[in-house]
Amino acid sequence: MFNLKFLSNLKIFFVLILSIVVINLADVRQNCAQTTRVSAKGFAVHSQDGHFHKHEFTRHAVGDHDIQVEILYAGICHSDLHAAWNEQSNFGIHSRYPMVPGHEIAGRVTKVGKSVTKFNVGDFAGVGCMVNACRKCNSCSVGKEQFCEKGAVFTYNSKDQYHENEITMGGYSDTIIVSEYFAIKIPSNAVISKVAPLLCAGITTWSPIKFSNVKSGDRVGVAGFGGLGHMAVQYLVDLKTEVTVFDVNDTKRDAAKRMGVKRYVNVRNPQEMEGLNNTMDFIITTIPVDYDPLLYVRMLKMGGEMAVVGLPPNSNINISKLPLGNANRKIYGSLIGGIKETQEMLDYSVSNNIYPEIELIKAETSEIDKAYQKISAGEVPFRYVIDMSTLR
Ligand code: NDP
Ligand code: ZN
Repeated sequence: MFNLKFLSNLKIFFVLILSIVVINLADVRQNCAQTTRVSAKGFAVHSQDGHFHKHEFTRHAVGDHDIQVEILYAGICHSDLHAAWNEQSNFGIHSRYPMVPGHEIAGRVTKVGKSVTKFNVGDFAGVGCMVNACRKCNSCSVGKEQFCEKGAVFTYNSKDQYHENEITMGGYSDTIIVSEYFAIKIPSNAVISKVAPLLCAGITTWSPIKFSNVKSGDRVGVAGFGGLGHMAVQYLVDLKTEVTVFDVNDTKRDAAKRMGVKRYVNVRNPQEMEGLNNTMDFIITTIPVDYDPLLYVRMLKMGGEMAVVGLPPNSNINISKLPLGNANRKIYGSLIGGIKETQEMLDYSVSNNIYPEIELIKAETSEIDKAYQKISAGEVPFRYVIDMSTLR
C-alpha cells in the first residue's frame, strides 16, 4: 500500500518536473524569437536621384515593450521629398541611402511583446515621425519627445541609439516594429484609409494651433494649402476662426471654399495681397520652398503669433531685419508634436470626422515616383497615400 502511494507520488513528481522543463523550453524559444531580426520589404531610394526601387531589409526584433504593425497605409509627406532628394543638408540633416521614407503610418497590430499593455493583436495602430526618445529629460517629461535633449529617434533616416545605432527605415514598407509608447491608438471606428496623414500633417498643424491658444473669432492665416495646410484649415474652421489661405495654385480655390475658408489669396496676384497687414492673430506657414517670411510677419497684429512649420531647403529669415519689420509680433518654429498630443489630435479628428483629402495609389515603384513628381509640380490632390496591401 505504502509502496503504491509512494510510486504514484513519484509519478506526479516526474510529470511536474517534465512540465516545468517543457514550459522553460518554450520560454527560451520565445526569448530566442524576440532576439531575431524581422524581415521587411518596401521601397527605397538609393541616391538623391529620388527613384524608388523595391527593397528588402530587416528590422530590430519585437522587444518586450514593442508591437509589430502590419502597415496598411502610408502617407507621402513633402518632408519625404526633402529627405529622399537630400534637400535638408542646410539644416545639418544628411540623407542616408538606401532610405525607406514614410512617417505617416496606419496599420494593424500583428504581434505584441510580453510587457505590452496598450495594444492587443488585431488593434489598429499609428506611427508618426518619431519612434524613440529618452523619456526622462525636461522635454520628454513635459510630453515634447520630439525635442528630446538626448535626441529623438525619427521614423526613418535616423540613427537609433536604442537599437545599436541601426538606421531607421520608414513606412513605405510592409511592417514596422515600435515601442508601444510611441505608437498611437487608432479607434476601431476610424476611416482607416484616411488616418495615416493625421500622424504628421494632422499633428504638425494641430500642435501650434493649441500652443498659440487660437480661439473662436480669431483672424488667422494658412500659408501653403497642401497636405499640412488643408489640415490646418480644417482645425481652424472647426475652431470657428476666420481663415485666409495663401497659395500659388488657383486650382484649389473651390476646395478652400468647400472647407469653409473666408478668403483665398493667390500670392502671385499683388492685388489679392493688398490690405492684409496688421490684421491677423495667428498665421501658420507650411510653405516648402523659399519665400519671404516677413511678408506674413507684417500681416500679424501687434502681439500676433506666427508658427513656421514648412521646411524650405534654404532658410532666408534675416534676423537683423526683424526690429524694423516686426512690431512685437512673435515667430516660432514648430516640429510635429509630442505623443500625448498626437493621441489627443487623433481621437479628436476621428470623433469629429476631420480627415485629410487623399488619393490612394498602389504600392509600386512607378506610382511612388509619379506621386513625387506631381507633388513637386504642385499637382497633388492634398495627400497621396500608398495602399500598402497592394505590395503583397
Ligand atoms: P505640400 O507640397 O503638400 O503643400 C505645400 C503647399 O504650399 C502646396 O499647396 C504648394 O502649392 C504651396 N506653395 C508652394 N509655394 C508657395 C508659396 N510661395 N506661397 C504659398 N504657398 C506655396 O507639402 P506638405 O504640406 O506635405 O509639407 C509642407 C512643408 O512642411 C514641407 O516643407 C515639409 O517638409 C514641412 N513639414 C514640416 C513638419 C514639421 O514638423 N515642422 C512636419 C511635416 C512637414 P503647389 O502645390 O502649387 O506647389
Ligand atoms: Zn511629414
